[in-house]
Amino acid sequence: MINKSVKVRLYPNRKQKEQFQNNFGACRFVYNHILDRLKKLYQYYPGQYRLNIKLINTFLNQIKDENSFLKDVESTSLQQSSRDLYKSYMNFFKNPKTRFPRFHSKKKTRLSFRQTVTANLVQGKYFKLRKYGKIRYRTSKEYINLLNNSNVKINSITVSCDNGEYYAIVNIEIVNDVLFDFTGVSVGFDVNSNRNGWLVSSAGDKFRFDISHENQMIKYLNRQLSLKQKGSRSFNRLQRRLWKYYNKRTHKLYDYIHKLSKCIVEDFDTVVFEKNLGSIKVLIGGEQNSVFPLMEFIRLLEYKFGWYKPDAEGVVFVDPKYTSKTCNECGYIHNNLDVNTRNWICPECGSSLDRDINAAINILNRWDNGDCLVKV
Ligand SMILES: [Zn+2]
Repeated sequence: MINKSVKVRLYPNRKQKEQFQNNFGACRFVYNHILDRLKKLYQYYPGQYRLNIKLINTFLNQIKDENSFLKDVESTSLQQSSRDLYKSYMNFFKNPKTRFPRFHSKKKTRLSFRQTVTANLVQGKYFKLRKYGKIRYRTSKEYINLLNNSNVKINSITVSCDNGEYYAIVNIEIVNDVLFDFTGVSVGFDVNSNRNGWLVSSAGDKFRFDISHENQMIKYLNRQLSLKQKGSRSFNRLQRRLWKYYNKRTHKLYDYIHKLSKCIVEDFDTVVFEKNLGSIKVLIGGEQNSVFPLMEFIRLLEYKFGWYKPDAEGVVFVDPKYTSKTCNECGYIHNNLDVNTRNWICPECGSSLDRDINAAINILNRWDNGDCLVKV
């Protein structure tokens, strides 16, 4: 669930403009009059007077009774105004850094009121506001699509006036993005150093990322930098260029894991990894200190499963022991398998095995067989 604000321009007619102005004034009136009562209460019971929303509502009703012009004003906006005051009053007690709420002045406070909305707020090119009827609005295509999306719940609308122009901020809740369909497919992934594909799937896919250009530039600039005098102008200029490439590389990698994780969640319902991912270092560009954001990638996968496929099994982990050394065909364990051997033939059954794909298949099989389950 995501909360978002959508800004639209409003085109009220003359009568509506008049009504809006009255509404702005009435909200300020209510706010200031309740605040006046609260201030008096606070003077009698300094530092310890806490109130509940019921008292605020009582105040609001009293003020409405005493001032008959408020009867003509849209009522939910007056209520929202008193709620805002209640919030900032309570904030004053909770947070010692907050000041006691202050009176709204005609000049300094932005002209605005907030309404709760009915289910049929959006009607084509018009908004149907409580009490004020249909008002034409305009906004971007993207926002229009959002407002008309059935997964979007509209909570409230804040109308404001700025230099004679009217705007509305629509507060929306995106209940759910488009969900992905189940594919019924599970996959195992083996994570390696970068050289032969940092991620290898049980289906035989090998994933690589290419940041060789950035790496080359970083290497080159570092070398140049070492030749300059520290603090000199050319040194500083080179350093800025170097930072730019570091940032570029980071940005590229995060962009990459965002896209890849979304594709994986779309294609598979279950994704199996080894449990020891925290200890695997996927180096980028062979540098000791620059490590691929592997755990961030896993976090993104888990997050996106929750978002796009909330009912899928998602990311799961199995025991990493012997996943590379076991033949996925017959289960023979090759104890003397060298770390650098990429391909081997099983002495037991004669299968020709790619080291990484074989490991990924073993990882998937472990989960399918229900062995060594580790659900995180
Ligand atoms: Zn075998």
